[in-house]
Amino acid sequence: MRRGTNVHALGGFNQIVILDTIRRNRDGLSRVEIAELTGLSAQTVSNVSRRLLDEGIIREAGQRILGVGKPRIILELDPSGGYAIGVHLDPAVITYVVLDLDGRVVAHSATRTPSGVTPEQVIAAMHDSIEALIDAAGVERGRVLGLGIAAPGPLDLEQGVVLDPPLLEGWHGVALRDALAESTGLMVLLEKDVTAATVAELWTSSAQERDDFMFFYYGTGVGLGLAIAHEAVRGATNNAGDAGHIIVDPEGPVCSCGRRGCLGDAIMPRAVVDRAIASGLITAPDERLGGDRVDALLGELAADAESGDHAASAVFEAMADRIAVAVVTVANLLDLDTVVFGGPYWNRVSPLVLGRVSELVNSSSSLVTTHPIAVAVSRIGDDVAAVGAACLVLDDVLSPRPSALLISG
Ligand SMILES: [Zn+2]
Repeated sequence: MRRGTNVHALGGFNQIVILDTIRRNRDGLSRVEIAELTGLSAQTVSNVSRRLLDEGIIREAGQRILGVGKPRIILELDPSGGYAIGVHLDPAVITYVVLDLDGRVVAHSATRTPSGVTPEQVIAAMHDSIEALIDAAGVERGRVLGLGIAAPGPLDLEQGVVLDPPLLEGWHGVALRDALAESTGLMVLLEKDVTAATVAELWTSSAQERDDFMFFYYGTGVGLGLAIAHEAVRGATNNAGDAGHIIVDPEGPVCSCGRRGCLGDAIMPRAVVDRAIASGLITAPDERLGGDRVDALLGELAADAESGDHAASAVFEAMADRIAVAVVTVANLLDLDTVVFGGPYWNRVSPLVLGRVSELVNSSSSLVTTHPIAVAVSRIGDDVAAVGAACLVLDDVLSPRPSALLISG
């Protein structure tokens, strides 16, 4: 595991415990309060906070008068003390963000995923975009704590390898993590896209708001991120969340797996657009369907539906029906109370399907939960998986773990 070494980007275990305590208290804390909360001695808190102040990771934020004692200086996180880079590789679009220490997006960019090129060329383009974004953000290089990458599964997280994603052409056993670690010189963490999106939701929500939920990812492919008790569910090999072959339409088209009506095949943008072309709903002058074309044609179909075209509307009604079947199945299985929708193509279809999904899920005779299912759209938007990947870096660097004790003492 890489965690033990990464953690030292910000020093030893006591330092991380103190930093973690400070960042969880948004109004700041005095040294006395930090000592009470952490159980560390006043002397340790004093020494460590001096070091953190010198390094610009925390700052003084005025004084607070508590009781009869002398005023106490309040310490808080300095958001500009460190930055994390997040990258989301979707087969159609690559999204980049820079987060400050507080988890706020301070810079963002997006490019179409180059097609017809080797993975090495895509990785080289990613490297250039990362460097350009760090420059554009005006972030001091030494303040960059690391790089998180969200990629389509299946992944080998131990080795940092993208194994064989069905929709990422030509990617078989690509050592993405080490390639970017080498070219950027940064600590790099890899995570499955749907899990990264789930992590972003966990980071930006309160505990009660998002405890047990699924993140319904609608990108080039379709997948589910899962969280139980406010923790992301990763599974035995960190590849949890493959929902593509849940059967949602037994009479539906034959899937690549040989069965009929699998979720991925039923609703993924390219398949929806292909069928709309085949049935004459939209016309595509170009035979080839790259990410740009799929996006434009899906938008065209959505615009037709919004302007009252019945045949186009029926496409999105059917999409909502299929999504609802999958949501009910998974909500039942794990007793989830919320589904959050997002991903690169979600905004295209959301106005046409969200209300119907909510109605269908909550009126379904198959829904056995004793509570309704809240249906929401990610507030983070298109950046959600990239933000989640960057959150992983912050979490890795800022969260105290007992394993760090074995090394730092
Ligand atoms: Zn299938």
